[in-house]
This record gives sequence, C-alpha cells and structure tokens, in this order.
Amino acid sequence: MSLYINQIEQLIVLQQLDDEIIKLEQIINEAPKKITALEERLNTQKTQQQDLSEKIDILKEQEKKLNEEIEEDNTKIKKSKNKLMMITKSKEYHAMMREMDNLEKTNRMREEEKLALEEDLNTQQNLLDSINEEIERMEQEHQELQQNLEVQMKESREKLEELKNNREEAKHKIPKPILSRYEFIRSRLNNPVIVPVEGGVCKGCNINIPPQSFIELQKGEQILSCPNCQRLIYWREHFENPEINANATSNA
Ligand SMILES: [Zn+2]
Repeated sequence: MSLYINQIEQLIVLQQLDDEIIKLEQIINEAPKKITALEERLNTQKTQQQDLSEKIDILKEQEKKLNEEIEEDNTKIKKSKNKLMMITKSKEYHAMMREMDNLEKTNRMREEEKLALEEDLNTQQNLLDSINEEIERMEQEHQELQQNLEVQMKESREKLEELKNNREEAKHKIPKPILSRYEFIRSRLNNPVIVPVEGGVCKGCNINIPPQSFIELQKGEQILSCPNCQRLIYWREHFENPEINANATSNA
C-alpha cells in the first residue's frame, strides 16, 4: 500500500508540474496576440483618421471656393451700385437692378451653403480630434504592452526552463513502466493525465466508475485507469494531504 501511495504521489507531482507547464506555455503563446489585436485596432483608427483628414480637406477647399465666389460677386454688386448712380436710362437701370438682385440672391444661397458646410466641417473636425486622441492613447498602450511583454516573456521562459528541469527530476523518481503509461496518456489525451475519484466519480470525465473497478481502486494495490476516459485514477480518500487533493483536481 505505501509503495502504491508513494507512486501515486510522484505521479501527482509530475501532473502538477505539467499543469504549470501547460499554463505557462499558454501565456507565452497568448501574450503576443494581445499586441497584434491592439495593432489591428490601431490600424483601423489610422485608416479612419486618413479618411477624415481627406474629407476635411475637401470641405475646406469647398469653403474657400465659396468665399471667393461670394467675394467676387460682392465686388460686382458694389461696382454696379456705383454705376447705378450714373445711369439715366430707365431700361438700363432696371436691367442692372435685376442683375444685382440676382447676384445678391446667389450670394445669399452661397452663405446658406457655407453655413451648412461649416457645420459639417465642425462635426468632422471634432470626430478627427477624438480619433487623434484615441490613437495617441493606443500608441502609448502599445508601447507599454510591448515593454511589459518583453519582461513577461523573459520571466515566463525562465520559469518554463526551471519547470522543465523540475519535471526531469520528477520523472527520474517514477518507475519506467509507470512513467511510460503516464507519457502515453499524456500524448493522447487532453491534460490532466492522473485524476482523483470522488464519490465513485472519475474527475477526468465525470462519469461513475464501475463498482468492481472502484473496489479494486480502494484496495490501493495497483495503478488503475478509468475505464471510460483511460486516465490514471486514484482514490481521494487515500490521501490525507488536502493540498495534494486540491492541486490535483484544480485542472480536472
Ligand atoms: Zn474518467
């Protein structure tokens, strides 16, 4: 019994190391994705920034053109007013009055157009301002993420190295046939490899193990596999140390 318990404990140690290794490898794989996602959002914002800037340029050009036209016609109106004083023929006078009316009318329309344009320009400019702010914020975040990532990656790789060394040590304590059973399962099933049985239920697949297997398991003579999921199983009641139990089931 005590040899059996000892072997199970060694397997649990190996399992705990594998849990940590898997977690760490996930962190190492996932961390750069956060930066890539941020870069994608940043690129979207920059495209919007570009589009808005172009739109604003066009609006400003239209405004400039309108102002020139207004100015030009205002000059014409002024000239006409001066000429009007000197005209004596009524026919000519009326013609010029009509022309001035038309010019004034056109300019009033232009002024309205200009107002609408300025409103549009204002809206677009506000939008661009907030996008510029957002881009600035994101670029800062990007820089911080990049720096943190480098530190985090370095730490994670060192920790991983250490865990793998510990794993080598843990492996050497386990008899070869048992270790190869463990490694065989590890290569074919999702983590974990060894799981507790609680209340007759395998914590690897959450299915009741058959009564005969359960009786065998309780004897604590040989290392058994769950008939359903094939993971190595142990009876939780065999272990007094609650820490082993807690850690061993944290990934079940
Ligand atoms: Zn199972």
